[in-house]
Amino acid sequence: MQDDRLADRHVVVTGGAQGIGRGIAERVAEAGADVTVFDVDTETAAETTSLVEDQGSSAAVVEVDVSDGDAVAAGVTDAIDALGPIHGLVNNAGIQRSIPILDLTEEEWDAHMAVNAKGVFFCCREVGAHMVEEGIDGSIVNIASTGATRPFPGQGVYAATKAGVVGFTIVLAKELGEHGITANCLNPGTVDTPMVQQWLAENAARTEASEEEILQDALDLHVADRMGQPRELGHVATLLLSEEGDWITGETINVDGGYTKM
Ligand code: NAD
Repeated sequence: MQDDRLADRHVVVTGGAQGIGRGIAERVAEAGADVTVFDVDTETAAETTSLVEDQGSSAAVVEVDVSDGDAVAAGVTDAIDALGPIHGLVNNAGIQRSIPILDLTEEEWDAHMAVNAKGVFFCCREVGAHMVEEGIDGSIVNIASTGATRPFPGQGVYAATKAGVVGFTIVLAKELGEHGITANCLNPGTVDTPMVQQWLAENAARTEASEEEILQDALDLHVADRMGQPRELGHVATLLLSEEGDWITGETINVDGGYTKM
């Protein structure tokens, strides 16, 4: 059965060049959305837009560092010029480096905050203002993490950024609700992406364990006993971005193979 839940809707996906962002971009396109990818890596992002076009949707890439407020504002204008008014925003761009708190520098703290927290704020402010101005009943989906409530050692600053995004999203939902705009968080468990491969390598380098052992230990904490696939976040994002999600707002949904229930 054809999925046309997002037909005629334009969705911006940040950090859509690879990993979860790419999975979401491809899945929302499958449901009929046109997609603009914001990313610092425009070369890889072009592979995502090809996948979007393969679904019969229009696609654009805009080079945006989400931690730069001016770049975000310009990027939103470029996205509207390319594919029209924006109905959905998925704040997915993020970074995660595994650093124990006692070794954490101010630079690393600021770098994580800049992308994972401030970047979400900039994109929500710019796209939110556009939606309000145009009277668009839009949807915002912020990709936080199960690390907001159940982080691993080494994720001190990462957990702080993601817990911040969960709280921020509740306020966003309350403030934009009167304009017909919903805002929610998805908290992924361990998903098979380049970020997780990097996390495995960093942890193997600072412990006695191999990457395989670290992965298995992580999977033992998931009811499903497997990694998630980026597309599985795409399924839930599609629902939230569609009319079916209209009465869900301010919510945080764990999409985590049961990680938070173990
Ligand atoms: P990834 O590292 O594989 O991809 C991240 C993407 O974001 C890349 O395309 C990168 O170029 C882009 N990006 C990074 N900094 C940026 C910036 N300043 N401006 C614009 N783009 C930028 O990561 P992923 O695993 O796909 O994770 C995506 C999101 O999901 C992140 O927010 C991450 O914290 C979250 N998450 C991931 C997992 C997981 O297991 N993979 C679990 C929980 C939460």
